[in-house]
Amino acid sequence: MEMLRVRSAVSPLRRPADDRARSVTRLPRVGDLIANLRPEDPVHCLRPAVLAETARAFRAAFPGEVLYAVKCNADPAVLRALWEGGVRHFDCASPKEVALVRSMFADAEIHFMHPVKARGAIREAWARHGVRDFVLDSADELAKLLAETGAAGATAATGVAGELGLIVRIALPKSGAVIDLSGKFGASLEDAVSLLRAARPQAARLGISFHVGSQCLDPLAWRQALDITGEVIRAAGVAIDIIDVGGGFPVAYPDAEPPALGAFMAEIEEGFERLGLPDAQLWAEPGRALVAGGGSVVVQVQMRRGDALYVNDGVYGSLADAGALGFRYPVRMIRPDGGAADVGVVGFSFYGPTCDSADAMRGPFYLPADIAEGDWIEIGQLGAYGASLRTGFNGFDQARIVEVGDAPLPMDEIGHPIEADIALAA
Ligand SMILES: *Cc1c(COP(=O)(O)O)cnc(C)c1O
Repeated sequence: MEMLRVRSAVSPLRRPADDRARSVTRLPRVGDLIANLRPEDPVHCLRPAVLAETARAFRAAFPGEVLYAVKCNADPAVLRALWEGGVRHFDCASPKEVALVRSMFADAEIHFMHPVKARGAIREAWARHGVRDFVLDSADELAKLLAETGAAGATAATGVAGELGLIVRIALPKSGAVIDLSGKFGASLEDAVSLLRAARPQAARLGISFHVGSQCLDPLAWRQALDITGEVIRAAGVAIDIIDVGGGFPVAYPDAEPPALGAFMAEIEEGFERLGLPDAQLWAEPGRALVAGGGSVVVQVQMRRGDALYVNDGVYGSLADAGALGFRYPVRMIRPDGGAADVGVVGFSFYGPTCDSADAMRGPFYLPADIAEGDWIEIGQLGAYGASLRTGFNGFDQARIVEVGDAPLPMDEIGHPIEADIALAA
């Protein structure tokens, strides 16, 4: 068969980066791969060409610098594909993410965007990995950053701010995002004003960031956030070098056809212009929007009970968001030993492999009516927050990662691919 790379899917952060140059051989197709492997464990299918192209398109549409939010999918193959698509900046939140990105790309610009960091994490990022930009949302964190980077001493000795970039994250009111992140991080507007004033003399670069929440379907959320940003800047009365509009850019799922990316970019561009900061840099930190379409998982049906399918991956694996959040994904049946009869489709729910009754996904996932034990199902739009959320709960920690040459799974209006199954030619 064609070139095939198989690795453990459990926590890419726990494996060494795979630095082998990406083969130029044509990558296999999902259907062929399943026919060859006949896998009884989930198989994660990464589409490097799709990832690179998505990154290129986002960078072309966004009028500023694009930082990839690594937590969304930290697989080295994903990082490599995004690099190929021109991404050079990475939003990291942990020492392992920082070390992984640095081990792969000596020239990457790494930004440490978690507002609450361990002291050792700051030291290691600063001294060992050359990280210069850090986010904060409190005076306590500012003190920590100044102490652990030695920046305060450097500034006091020379009278000019050294190399430290400081980005103050502001809190936003509840947004229209599917996954609301307001509440955990972000300085109140009042606190942000005093933080900006305190940080300014210590900062080589001073920025403001926010995060509207993940899978935010409303472009106006960015307009509102940028207007709040403007209020903070006027109240603080200090020079601002960076405006970071965070992540949260949505992708299509069977239930959600978001406005086109251009609608979000238009609000951001206008809102940024209204701030009247011609010399400031504009940054974004997309995760989901860069990688969702570039990943899928192939699961096997282990039992059918009515319209419920017991499959070998679930909410403790890569389908976390299909559980409590009820996300639906495009699906297609793979039956290598012959095509399905034209039997129509049925909306199925899934049960995952663990013994927890919460390991259930209501769907519905539309699949051929005669789907049965032994058939495989490819579940698409899973490059974001899929493999990255896997656990080893109940011993179901086996999975493989392969790179494939397929296009993303297409969606029709009820969320199943137009060709609901693929029959493989012998
Ligand atoms: C998770 C996260 C992102 C990425 O969010 P997406 O919804 O995946 O785009 C960006 N910035 C911060 C601070 C985050 O926590």
